[in-house]
Amino acid sequence: MKKLSLKWHDARRALSLSKYLVAGAAVLALGQTAFAQTAKIQVVAAENFYGDVAHQLGGDRVDVTSILSNPDEDPHLFEASPKTARALQHASLVVYNGADYDPWMAKLLNASKNNAKRTIIVAADLIGKKSGDNPHLWYDPATMPAVARAVATALETADPANKTAYDANLAKFLDSLKPIDAKVAELHGRYAGVPVTATEPVFGYMSDAIGLAMRNMRFQLATMNDTEASASDIAAFEKDLREKRVHVLIYNSQATEALTKRMLKLAQQSHVPTMSVTETEPAGKNYQVWMLSQLDALSAALAAGQANTGTTQ
Ligand SMILES: [Zn+2]
Repeated sequence: MKKLSLKWHDARRALSLSKYLVAGAAVLALGQTAFAQTAKIQVVAAENFYGDVAHQLGGDRVDVTSILSNPDEDPHLFEASPKTARALQHASLVVYNGADYDPWMAKLLNASKNNAKRTIIVAADLIGKKSGDNPHLWYDPATMPAVARAVATALETADPANKTAYDANLAKFLDSLKPIDAKVAELHGRYAGVPVTATEPVFGYMSDAIGLAMRNMRFQLATMNDTEASASDIAAFEKDLREKRVHVLIYNSQATEALTKRMLKLAQQSHVPTMSVTETEPAGKNYQVWMLSQLDALSAALAAGQANTGTTQ
């Protein structure tokens, strides 16, 4: 009897232990499920404006790392470090510009073994731009809608349970670009054909969308490529400013050198209105606010430039 009791006792203990194990396994399984539901999609963007779009579309479902995010550094001179490669390691979605703006990203991806498990979005491919084209694609009003659609599709593929939320975020994002398009149309109506110049081609696509007559392209390309502008290109630029042949100088405050600073000074001395643009999205502004604030600054400079020359051309 005692023996039986012991057996019973042992059996109960065994049952209790197995219950504990089952409960433990259930907790473990629940833990894994909870983790799977809260694990964020790892996104790496080469440039912070693409990272911003991924964040606006993914919200708290994404964890975004942007490599180029310092508006005080010239992105054309950026070189990837081991830290950049490490950031990329666990990314399941990668967004970069392409068109030779960020050749380091293509190199890192080529060297990576994880590409089969990730989605790679190249902005240039989405809008048919290639090596040799102006690489500042995010100033082209066609780029961000295309990138946003591609990012939303990638997020929905990675996380189909939240498709409705991504669709809603995409619709909201596309809607939020409308004031930018409206501003571009307004400026086009008022200033198409007006001659302007710039120290570097960062604003080129936006300038084209507005229909401005952009001058001194060779000088701008030399700044972008960190090469020396020719004496005749410098002389032509100076003449445009001194003789007020341009209404506005668009100054890239992120790609500066002695020569571009000299042109800024000459514009100020010659009373040619200037406006400052950056390559990288500044802290505290999202893409839409950043673009609109620059368009507002351009609008003010163009108005001043028109008053300045007393002509419409
Ligand atoms: Zn640039």
